[in-house]
Amino acid sequence: MKKFLELCGFEPAEIDAELPRIQKVFDMFGINQEDIERGKDRINKFWDPELKGLAKIRGLARRELVDTILAREENKINVCASLPSATTDILNAASFHSDNVRATYPDVLVLMVMGYLFDKLDPILEAAEEHFLRPGAAQCSLLQVRLGLNVLGLYPKCDLLMSMGSLCDALPKCDEALGLYFNIPVHYINCCQDRGADWEDLYRSKDFYTNEIKKAQKKVSEVVGFEVDNDKVNEARRIRRDAAIYANNIFDLVVNSDPVPMSAACLQYIRIFRAMPVGRKTQDGLNEANKLLFEEIQERVNRGVGVVEKGAPRILYAPLVSLADPSITNMIEELGIAIPLSEDSILVPDGELRPQMDERGRGEDPWEKVAYALIQRSIEASVPMRIRAITGAVKRYHLDGVLNLFHYSCRYFAGDPLILKDAVEKATGVPVMVLEGDMYDPRFYTAEQLRTRVEAFGEMLRAAKVAHK
Ligand code: SF4
Repeated sequence: MKKFLELCGFEPAEIDAELPRIQKVFDMFGINQEDIERGKDRINKFWDPELKGLAKIRGLARRELVDTILAREENKINVCASLPSATTDILNAASFHSDNVRATYPDVLVLMVMGYLFDKLDPILEAAEEHFLRPGAAQCSLLQVRLGLNVLGLYPKCDLLMSMGSLCDALPKCDEALGLYFNIPVHYINCCQDRGADWEDLYRSKDFYTNEIKKAQKKVSEVVGFEVDNDKVNEARRIRRDAAIYANNIFDLVVNSDPVPMSAACLQYIRIFRAMPVGRKTQDGLNEANKLLFEEIQERVNRGVGVVEKGAPRILYAPLVSLADPSITNMIEELGIAIPLSEDSILVPDGELRPQMDERGRGEDPWEKVAYALIQRSIEASVPMRIRAITGAVKRYHLDGVLNLFHYSCRYFAGDPLILKDAVEKATGVPVMVLEGDMYDPRFYTAEQLRTRVEAFGEMLRAAKVAHK
């Protein structure tokens, strides 16, 4: 175990101090010696073990999971939420202000630790299938993880669950059922169906989301017992700023370098962790770890080191890379295809990485800013706007193709892959492959099964690249 924790960036003194709490939580999840050995193998295979900043980020995810699971016995107020991340500012404003408040996305942490690292999600998914998210009915695997944790008694004490309906109806429906079955108080952030097909249309839903986020702010204030006001939100943003700046610098380096210096799965890990609410100590650690990682990636770029060869075809991966199973993107990279960008990091209207903040949209208060940032994300946008964002990103970053995962069990992302494929191919001339898979359930779509199709796609990309020269 000590060796494993060293691989997760723990210093010797930290290991001695943290080991009993980590062991306790690992025992609850049934992590045994065999799992620890598998975890070490997966770190060596999927994690760029030489990057010390990344090792620290692995360790911080573990710390965050331990703190979250033990919140009950440590008598904390625990506020839970999940992706998509509209509530991060509110929750961090509360948790940074008071040591007595914990706020996080428990099921995402479980994907990051029990899925990505240990490949041990099966018992959790199976527990959900014994309950109301049955097998064979294309139920969302992310929600199965949330339900399975509750069925197994592993979901942390939850004083409030913030449920986000902006992408799909399955999520709030599931949370309502969790509220009924497991006595969890739930607050809903509703969805505005009027997404619009043009940039100007966004302003209509901005006010709606601003209002929804303000309602959530009021609810969180009631639960934590103090007002989560604008000053606290601005202070939370200040505390998070370094991690955001260095992570953005890393994304810029990756998308602008050839060869691509970092794997897509690791990039996704830092992207999601940066977007989640975390405890204050973890945030301080994340600020340092992202700075260190940026310096390491910069140094790799200077030396021309990459995870694929220089000149390899570069693709955009839509909608987002799995947090549960890095083996599929690893297989794609082993086949010589670089993935410097995923759709969840690009914005409407033209696939930029930074939000546009014009006069109307800059926002009067922090809540408007959150709403404005939310509605600019490509994955939250209407199909015409997603097409424009992906097309814009392909052109802007000189990409050679797009891989669109047909996440078959998702109410939201399963609907559009063929429409996106046709439109993006017409607009850009690059090949788009639709690949059936499951982002959060590694049981049915393995890297080996998908390899032949990706090999053929790689050949197509290389041929198209030669033809364009
Ligand atoms: S159905 Fe899709 S959008 Fe809805 S919670 Fe599941 S993964 Fe997210």
